Amino acid sequence: MIELNNIYKSFGDKDVIKGVNLTVDDGEVVVLIGRSGSGKTTLLRMINALELPTSGQVIVDGTSYSNNNRRSQIAVRKKSGMVFQNYQLFPHMTALENVIEGLVTVKNMPKAEAEKIGLDLLHKVGLEQVSNQYPSGLSGGMQQRVGIARALAMNPKVMLFDEPTSALDPELVMDVLNVMKDLAAEGMTMVIVTHEMNFAKNVASKIAFIHEGRIKEIGTPDQIFNHPKSDALKRFLNIID
Ligand code: ATP
Repeated sequence: MIELNNIYKSFGDKDVIKGVNLTVDDGEVVVLIGRSGSGKTTLLRMINALELPTSGQVIVDGTSYSNNNRRSQIAVRKKSGMVFQNYQLFPHMTALENVIEGLVTVKNMPKAEAEKIGLDLLHKVGLEQVSNQYPSGLSGGMQQRVGIARALAMNPKVMLFDEPTSALDPELVMDVLNVMKDLAAEGMTMVIVTHEMNFAKNVASKIAFIHEGRIKEIGTPDQIFNHPKSDALKRFLNIID
């Protein structure tokens, strides 16, 4: 479903990703963990061509992109829904309008049809009752759940999450994680950058520990948390304990 083949990425003379190979099968939930600056976000953003690799190949659902072909990047981007740390909702649109924006403007769906889908998705994330509210009237956790509904509206093959709960007050984190957990249980293929280790333990099929731009270890939650092999992972687990 997702394949990263021998991916390198540099910003100027700074080598950030140094030869990553990763396969994410259909229905798998892969969580990327590692220290700040290890390259997790950069890696995630290359899956939907928000960042372009310096070399290597990304394949999503059988489609790959090349750096000098914008169309191929858009084709790959359409395969995935992205959820950002800071929601990135349109402030002048209601929750429902945010969710259906892509359906109406990109997919040219009639508004009534899009609204029906949008309301179903808001129901799925527990927010049907605030469909007419603007983002400023919603808590961070609610805004993030609108962000998830908006990404789902485009019917993506995979969902990518970049630290989706990092900006939230602690009491709002669980609502968002529960929505993600439900999606995982439904069989959605997901790649998630998060510092929520309990979530990773409970929901991940595979955890990849990123260290200095490489996948230092990859395995089941049990392998990663209970049987770490490298000193780097042991140190990381000690710090976050
Ligand atoms: P965090 O947990 O803090 O988000 P991360 O593991 O996601 O960290 P990245 O955000 O991928 O790490 O960043 C990896 C390195 O690449 C960092 O040193 C960062 O400063 C650098 N970097 C990321 N994006 C850019 C950019 N657009 N230009 C220059 N350097 C960048």
